[in-house]
Amino acid sequence: MSRDATRRKVNLILNCGSSSVKYKVFVSGAETCLARGVVEKVGSPQAIVRHCDRAGEKDREVADIKNHKQAIQTVLSFLISGGQAIIQEKSQIKAVGHRVVHGGKYSQPVVITKEVKKYLQDVTFELAPLHNPYNFEGIEAVEQVLPGVPNVAVFDTAFHQTLPDYAYMYGIPYRFFKKHLIRKYGFHGTSHQFVSSVASRLLKKRISELKIITVHLGNGSSLAAIKNGKCVDTSMGFTPLEGVMMGTRSGDIDPAAVLHLMMAEELGIHETDTILNKQSGLLGVSGTSNDMREILKSMKSGDARAALAFNMFCYRVKKYIGSYLAVLNGADAIVFTAGIGENSAKTREEILKNAENLGIIIDVRKNRTVKPEKPALISGKNSKVAVFVIPTNEELMISKIMDKINLRHR
Ligand code: AMP
Repeated sequence: MSRDATRRKVNLILNCGSSSVKYKVFVSGAETCLARGVVEKVGSPQAIVRHCDRAGEKDREVADIKNHKQAIQTVLSFLISGGQAIIQEKSQIKAVGHRVVHGGKYSQPVVITKEVKKYLQDVTFELAPLHNPYNFEGIEAVEQVLPGVPNVAVFDTAFHQTLPDYAYMYGIPYRFFKKHLIRKYGFHGTSHQFVSSVASRLLKKRISELKIITVHLGNGSSLAAIKNGKCVDTSMGFTPLEGVMMGTRSGDIDPAAVLHLMMAEELGIHETDTILNKQSGLLGVSGTSNDMREILKSMKSGDARAALAFNMFCYRVKKYIGSYLAVLNGADAIVFTAGIGENSAKTREEILKNAENLGIIIDVRKNRTVKPEKPALISGKNSKVAVFVIPTNEELMISKIMDKINLRHR
């Protein structure tokens, strides 16, 4: 154990899914990541724990992990007494940050209290039934395993709470907004916030002076229009289904086409939901894969459906960029991030080709030589809009947010 391990305070960041717990540990008040890992197959006797410390040392264990509480206990044992222990005792954990998908009305991260928990259960479970109950389970597990340590919820939706009403409302009877809270919420907010703040640092300008379009392209994809540091529009909606086409999600579609399909195929609500969320997008169009790497490979070997899926994906992202250029009246920067945005030069090139009249010119060589996990400027010298590739780091953003909020405010 290093000498530092005996005294440093850390922030533990958790992302609890239905059967997984992902974690990262940061030195409190700094950007140093000391450890990260994941517990997979939570609820199974063959759960897998993968732990990686700062030096890149990896540890793997197969264990019987029944629930999130046991998963978090296992993570703590790695942190405190693993081969590369990074803290000596639980009391060094200053706070635990939870990535919570849906925050409903919350526009800021919150320290968990009884009232917050009640709101999350009463309101957000219905809004995000596939995510929030598991995020919540993580919060309750930490309350049991680390009593007295503050829990902070950082919501994927929070960054988008600055959208004006004319951007977040849908053109349906107003009473449904009042009664069922039907509106655009947007997701990936922590990622959009993080990469836009890095872009402002790279441009050496205050975020309050900048107009930025952030393009998060992963298995789930979304864009955000950010003006003076505030999000003014985003592509995902009431759920993450709206917006650009994704790995398995359709993205924007005429709702009447869905109704027609339900009638023609005699589909129920759940089947339709599965088709739109799990069987559409790159997977549905190509008929082979939701993974962009596979799509690119198939395209190279002449698969026309893979090429169609790729072209649809890029075209739809380009359309959103165009609409956000209109919303913002031009942009200082466009930022690509997440699995596809960070790693696929071809996708970035296709999206931004023939955009000179919008002031966007990619430097093809720079675009093709982006190094993994490093921010890069890929626009040419005469491009009016700076184009960046910036690796996202939602957990670091959560840790930084935790350093700023008053943890005693409970
Ligand atoms: P994420 O959801 O951000 O983890 O992104 C995952 C997706 O990124 C995968 O499904 C792949 O489609 C994509 N991806 C990762 N690496 C590459 C790569 N080198 N080229 C193209 N796509 C990639």
